[in-house]
Amino acid sequence: MNIQENIEQAKKYIANNKLDEALNLLYKSPTSDLNIQDEIFFEIGKVFLLKRKYNKSVFYLKKIKKMSLKQFVYDLLVQDYNELKEYNKILNIFRKFDKENINDYILYLVLKSSYKLKKLSKMFSIINIIRANNIYNTLLEELINNIYKNLSIKIQKLNRKNKKKEVKSLFKSIYKYIPNNDIKFKNIILNEYEIAISKKSLKSYPRFAQVVITTNCNLNCVMCDKNNHDAKYELSNKILCDLIKIMPYLQKLVLRGGEVFLYKNFNNILDEAQKNNVVIEILTNGLLLNENNIKKLIKSNAILVFSIDSPMKTTYEYIRKGASFEKLIKNILLLNKIKKELKSEIKFNINMVVMKMNYKQIPDMIKFARKYDFNGLTLNPINGEYIENCFSYKVDNRIIKELSEKRGEYEIMAKNNNIILINKLPNKTVFKFNSDTCFDNNYCENNSSRKFCHVPWREIFLDTGFIFKPGCLCEQQIEGADLEKDNNIIYLWNSHFMKNYRKNIIAHNEKEICSKRCLLNKFMNYDNYRIID
Ligand code: SF4
Ligand code: SF4
Repeated sequence: MNIQENIEQAKKYIANNKLDEALNLLYKSPTSDLNIQDEIFFEIGKVFLLKRKYNKSVFYLKKIKKMSLKQFVYDLLVQDYNELKEYNKILNIFRKFDKENINDYILYLVLKSSYKLKKLSKMFSIINIIRANNIYNTLLEELINNIYKNLSIKIQKLNRKNKKKEVKSLFKSIYKYIPNNDIKFKNIILNEYEIAISKKSLKSYPRFAQVVITTNCNLNCVMCDKNNHDAKYELSNKILCDLIKIMPYLQKLVLRGGEVFLYKNFNNILDEAQKNNVVIEILTNGLLLNENNIKKLIKSNAILVFSIDSPMKTTYEYIRKGASFEKLIKNILLLNKIKKELKSEIKFNINMVVMKMNYKQIPDMIKFARKYDFNGLTLNPINGEYIENCFSYKVDNRIIKELSEKRGEYEIMAKNNNIILINKLPNKTVFKFNSDTCFDNNYCENNSSRKFCHVPWREIFLDTGFIFKPGCLCEQQIEGADLEKDNNIIYLWNSHFMKNYRKNIIAHNEKEICSKRCLLNKFMNYDNYRIID
């Protein structure tokens, strides 16, 4: 065989993973023709890359002079340097690449390197190349999503710690480079910046929306707000259109009822949320689930929150009037079965309204959650003027004390059962909390640089009866027909009401405008302040 035939044979060996045979043949092919020698070095470099001998691979590849091979050589070198974690070298090579002909995997490695080295402008220039050339590749998309997620969490954490300077500097170093079609991420960064500079009229849009879509319900629970329930409110087509308009900016949308499945446009919202990559959370009593809507929910990757207040038939059916415990269990089992069949990662949680009648059942509720493969359990205190309300109406200090003392026990039990527990029940210290002195604590000390609640900058809540307010716990609101008739969500977002609300929050007038329930729930405790991810 002549040398050219040797090289061709070596390539065949490489293709069949006969690496040692290929290497022998290539070593036995000396030549004084520099072009052919470059081809041999190239194949040897490739073999060593496949044999995971990265330094040796680099050694041979760097000997190559032939220009027509350069782009292929760079491809291999980038892969070697990635394994050797020499990310700077990858970025140096990237400068020499013919950007028109760069392959997706190499782009991925270069993007990863710039992210590892925190070279943000380089990173965004690569993302811009990807977006400009409409390159779609799952690996690249996952990496970009991860980068965006980490940066979004980083800027939120900085804001939460009140590090305004750092937020501004991060904003300035990235905002202008973010591709315009990455709307959601661009909005997050702008929004956090606007929080940091205490802006009252915002260019950014809401990132989190909670919407009551209907008050229609198949049940008649003891603690339900009957006024709302009987009013038979339903989200109008006009507000639905408004909501769809802000979907590209939304990170999360929570749908509440009544019973959400009784809303005629429910599937429409689900489709739009899926199209716009919005995380959708659905609060349901779970009794109207069936094979069709379960499949639809799974397809949208919705988070399901079941309202279940007891793991025991008698208590459950007493609280949830009109419900059947057997039907509930049947639906949960069906959901689990379809989830398994479709290999879905869909998450479902329980929301337990804790009251006098069921507070002793919390440990059994944790076991129930485990038994039926729920991911999490949230304990919420009952609200409103009901005889069962031991927290804020017919206050029972003995129960509150017992629940406070058992917090640790519940946590351990949930952990052992692999259940994420969110305990929103008031504890002893909070119960002693007095609205006249609440502003004396750490995060409420009176100085201008102190932290403030970010909810009116990030969220909206559309309540029964066309009510618009910043968050579900906020008390001040725009009532009535405004939203339905003349105004739209985007207009209300920067309305006089919202600007004034933000102004009051910045001025620390929480005492005048915030609900006691919210302050009691430690919403203002920034160590627990939620991050929208
Ligand atoms: S399921 Fe919800 S909306 Fe329906 S009656 Fe019960 S508490 Fe009210
Ligand atoms: S009531 Fe006040 S503290 Fe609570 S979410 Fe609304 S603005 Fe924030």
